Amino acid sequence: MHPDLSPGKIVCVGRNYLAHASELGNDVPDEPLLFLKPPSTLIPGGEPILQPPGVGRVDFEGEVAFVVGRKGRFIREEEAWDYLSHVVPANDVTARDLQRADAQWTRAKGFDTFCPVGTPVPLAEVDAEALRVVTRVNGEVRQDAPVSDMAFPPPVVVSYISRIMTLEPGDLILTGTPEGVGPLVPWDEVEVEIPGVGSVLNPVRAAPGAPWPRPRTRSA
Ligand code: MG
Repeated sequence: MHPDLSPGKIVCVGRNYLAHASELGNDVPDEPLLFLKPPSTLIPGGEPILQPPGVGRVDFEGEVAFVVGRKGRFIREEEAWDYLSHVVPANDVTARDLQRADAQWTRAKGFDTFCPVGTPVPLAEVDAEALRVVTRVNGEVRQDAPVSDMAFPPPVVVSYISRIMTLEPGDLILTGTPEGVGPLVPWDEVEVEIPGVGSVLNPVRAAPGAPWPRPRTRSA
């Protein structure tokens, strides 16, 4: 739950910064690489990111996110900013070992608490082309990049998503993470800041419980 946001969907872009794609051994794709996080991942600043037992490495990914302000389908790039109302810092928390193990990322990206998001600020109050994102872990800067480093800038992303699905008011769009991602461990504090906009700071805690048993395949 989040005091300011209740998105019907959270649409995310993978590998949208060249240097980040390279650090994980990937290329920037030819078209935006989209995935979804369930709205149940969403938490505000101050709430703990819960590291599930037995999942291995859990990474931070500081990102610039936008809130959709107007319903739209087949949005043209030239009009895309008109469909966005707010900008907000977000953390696309990722179970990296599960992401590498799976063909798609629902599990790796979808645990409860894996989408901390700050307080949205109206786009009218910022220079959206000049934004940058800075991530700190325990006060130490780990990521710092301008949105101008994106392979696919926000208008391209918005237009592209709207060719696939209707964007609804309140939907969140996470635009990808720059280089410098790394693991979080319990008792870390991770902060994603968009200077001039705000930040979202969350502690990391181990989720209670034992690793769940691997479901067994039904034998023939
Ligand atoms: Mg990401």
